[in-house]
Amino acid sequence: MSGSFQIAGGWIEVVVGVMFSGKSEELMRRVRRAIIARKRIQVFKSHLDERYAGVLAVSSHDGRTIDAFPVDSSAQIAQRIDPTAQVIAIDEAQFLDRGIVQVAADLAGRGRRVIIAGTDTDFRGEPFGPMPDLLATAELVDKLHAICVLCGAPASRNQRLIEGRPASWDSPTIMVGGHESYEARCRACHVVPRCDESQVAIPFGVTAEGMRHSGR
Ligand code: ADP
Ligand code: ZN
Repeated sequence: MSGSFQIAGGWIEVVVGVMFSGKSEELMRRVRRAIIARKRIQVFKSHLDERYAGVLAVSSHDGRTIDAFPVDSSAQIAQRIDPTAQVIAIDEAQFLDRGIVQVAADLAGRGRRVIIAGTDTDFRGEPFGPMPDLLATAELVDKLHAICVLCGAPASRNQRLIEGRPASWDSPTIMVGGHESYEARCRACHVVPRCDESQVAIPFGVTAEGMRHSGR
């Protein structure tokens, strides 16, 4: 789909989905194909996630390799942009600040192809960081799914586990250096207990935020 997308100017394409849905694989596939097309490419990835360290060093049959720059802010990306780069790929964009929305728009406005991958929802199932705005402003969006580890259905939720138990709603969105782990789960199997409570059913039409304020 995106491989055949060709317009005169630049554009933004976003690959989203839960963890393990194959976003990094898809980002790398697009980068490899851009290398084959002899485009000049830069790849950035968020500092906060070291799981894929080295994986984004991609090589082509003609021996060229591309390493990902580790970054932790949109300003760092803006500073490190090579003015000759035609394709800019950014992985783990959910950890970046909202400035990434303008950085991506500026690059696309200057004729660049901007490929962004990120998790669109946090462990609660809520929109994550700058991802909603990136999705809204992109020309192309692909939402990928993993497989729910409990029931085998398409997974659309990140299940955070702390010491093997579902993390409560009140735990921080980003747990740097935490001992948490994650599973891909479907909506029905996703569990986010309230603090000091086991999972409570939220009545239809009542938001979780509203429940929190009402003390339920
Ligand atoms: P993402 O960047 O979305 O976190 P990756 O591209 O790093 O995903 O990894 C995708 C790979 O994860 C799949 O090709 C598969 O081998 C593996 N994987 C592990 N657990 C699952 C799961 N529950 N569902 C789907 N793929 C999984
Ligand atoms: Zn499930």
